[in-house]
Amino acid sequence: SQHNLFAALRAAFPADLDSTAIETDGGLSYSWRDIDRATAMVANLLGSLDIPPASRIAVQVEKSVEAVVLYLATLRAGHVFLPLNTAYQSAEIDYFVTNAEPAVVVCSPANFGWVSKIAFKAGTQHVFTLGDDRTGSLLERAAHCSDQHTVVARGPDDLAAILYTSGTTGRSKGAMLSHDNLLSNARVLKTYWGWKPGDVLIHALPIFHVHGLFVALHGALLNGSKMLWMAKFDPKQAIAWMRRATVFMGVPTLYVRMLGEAGLTREATAHMRLFISGSAPLLIETFKAWQERTGHTILERYGMSETAMLTSNPYAADARFGGQTERRGGTVGFPLPGVELRVLGDDGKALPVGEIGGIQVQGPNIFKGYWRMPEKTAEEFTDDGFFKTGDVGKVDERGYVTIVGRSKDLIISGGYNVYPAEIEGYINDMPGVAESALIGVPHPDFGEVGVAVVIPKPGAKVDGDQIVAALKAQLANFKIPKRCFVVAELPRNTMGKVQKNLLREQHKALFA
Ligand code: ATP
Ligand code: MG
Repeated sequence: SQHNLFAALRAAFPADLDSTAIETDGGLSYSWRDIDRATAMVANLLGSLDIPPASRIAVQVEKSVEAVVLYLATLRAGHVFLPLNTAYQSAEIDYFVTNAEPAVVVCSPANFGWVSKIAFKAGTQHVFTLGDDRTGSLLERAAHCSDQHTVVARGPDDLAAILYTSGTTGRSKGAMLSHDNLLSNARVLKTYWGWKPGDVLIHALPIFHVHGLFVALHGALLNGSKMLWMAKFDPKQAIAWMRRATVFMGVPTLYVRMLGEAGLTREATAHMRLFISGSAPLLIETFKAWQERTGHTILERYGMSETAMLTSNPYAADARFGGQTERRGGTVGFPLPGVELRVLGDDGKALPVGEIGGIQVQGPNIFKGYWRMPEKTAEEFTDDGFFKTGDVGKVDERGYVTIVGRSKDLIISGGYNVYPAEIEGYINDMPGVAESALIGVPHPDFGEVGVAVVIPKPGAKVDGDQIVAALKAQLANFKIPKRCFVVAELPRNTMGKVQKNLLREQHKALFA
């Protein structure tokens, strides 16, 4: 039978193929028929190349509807989509292309010179270009191809995509995701988030990452929903579009930026049904400010490249958890239907309710392993088939999951565990503080000690020593950061994630 993810997405297109599927901030409009035909043409182009089934198609291009067409055409043709962050330069592309050995590379026209050199050296046969303004050799070649195409049959475990992780904790790993991994997750989210006829999604995220490529795109496509398409996030445009949209998905920094706009009001957001946040922790302050300004409660969820979505706050009553409907700020909600989640202590035993430990998960959405890293893959799965997320957290008596940090960011000071999120929470509550990051740095006596990096609110004066003194009055001594730096901003990657490895690197010699 047919398990190709594209077949399921195509089956969800609305009956009226001439209705609008995507409207862009550049003033373009694409019908469902346009998407169907364009994906057929690009799939036929890929089919005409002399490449084996399930070839990897590596893509580093600016965000555009045509890039989505290329993604869907890759699925349709039975190949494996491999998106790459647009920020990557030659050293990174060299690593990914050499590592992934794609049969086809598609890059921005401006990068063709250096990308093609790397690709040909790595043995890639075909390099195409795709601009964000419908230019480039990919579309030129596809224009000569038929717009009729039969979806290539795929099995449930065949790969649909290889998604490199964000590289927040180290070198990116290629997560191998099957057609069934992605489709099962998309179907669960469709129900859990109450997607319904008439929904319109504001697509504001990059499409080289799980959030924009899978969660947002599959959500809209599987519901036959129109998308309002932003090439680059613009808070004013997003707010203006809310008058005719119903769903918005963003990383926390997007919410912070919209809160900075006077146009964000109850009235401006009255037409919206749902605001979703994920990819990084949403500060409780942002959660509350959004509620006050708009009357909407942001729904926070948690997932990763390796697993797609794992947990979500409830949209509607969740019978599994006593009919709970409350979206609790600071938590990532409940394990999604079909996902098993457990919290284990250092001894590998399941922990009682409320205790902090390593989060492990199992479900139809969990990936098939890291590309060409069998040892790493074996390390990250338990004997009974659970995946070790690398995140540390707890589950409360009502079933809500809270993430307290990543195991790699955990600080062990004088033998005691210090959970960064706990200390950051106290610091963030202090007057004048916008945000903070607690990192562990080597220390001759304690092994490691905490160092805080604090961002003040605009115009506020904040003193590092005073913060340390204030913490001393509230917390046990081993949790107190030994130093506190006040700086203008935190280093973030393109998904808005704080890069604690860079902060650790910067401060590693403080106590040497
Ligand atoms: P790498 O694995 O290369 O270090 P990464 O883990 O940041 O990078 P992603 O797969 O993009 O790469 O991100 C998944 C991680 O993002 C999760 O493991 C978790 O730490 C974090 N995350 C996602 N959603 C949330 C959330 N709602 N709250 C807190 N953390 C989140
Ligand atoms: Mg990760």
